[in-house]
Amino acid sequence: MSQVASATLFLSDLHLTPERPGPAESFRRFLDQKAIHAEALYLLGDLFEAWVGDDDLALPFHTEIAADLKRVSKSGVPVYFLPGNRDFLVGPDLARAAGLILLEDPTLIDLYGTATLLAHGDAWCTDDAHYQALRAQIREPAWRADFLDKPLAERHAIASALRERSELAKAGKRPEIMDVNPEAIAAAFRRHGVSRIIHGHTHRPARHSHNIDGHPRERWVLPDWYDLSGGYLACDDTGCHAEAW
Ligand code: MN
Repeated sequence: MSQVASATLFLSDLHLTPERPGPAESFRRFLDQKAIHAEALYLLGDLFEAWVGDDDLALPFHTEIAADLKRVSKSGVPVYFLPGNRDFLVGPDLARAAGLILLEDPTLIDLYGTATLLAHGDAWCTDDAHYQALRAQIREPAWRADFLDKPLAERHAIASALRERSELAKAGKRPEIMDVNPEAIAAAFRRHGVSRIIHGHTHRPARHSHNIDGHPRERWVLPDWYDLSGGYLACDDTGCHAEAW
């Protein structure tokens, strides 16, 4: 029943929203059936399609997800959350309600003896200059404070306009522009001295082999849960493997 008993699980890009209940149902089953037996659970960003402030916890859809997550940590499984580009405004109230341990992007962990760098992944999409400029702007503490000061409905309207603009911009960009940049990845491997990176964001699940400075290294890209074909990465002391859900 618990073949993942001693595994650490990684997920990202669930993009949960009340408008698409399928992935939320699937995620709820994952939490109850899989995550609860894990050694630890890591959520590497874009858990939500949009998170415009912790006061949005009042939405029943959000309250329920927070409660579902809280059951996992209450059962003794630490649940870590690293913010994505859609939910970088997750704060201490949601963390408390959902039992999340908040992580910086990127975060270095010792994963069964292997130094592993965790990130959402969007910071490495450096070919997309337009996106990086927007990313820098909305992560300014002043922008953040100003945004969180606005009424909830206005924040939702702004977030939805930003998403629409991003979808329009994507349609005019070559696909490789929206993937991570190989030089940025090589720099991250070197800078953090790791042999493994796990990230999401690009929705291009894969295991990439890298040889950097004569050392073999691996990079796992997590799948998204947009439709019902989600998945996760399970790691233990023998290594990591991708699992469908
Ligand atoms: Mn993302």
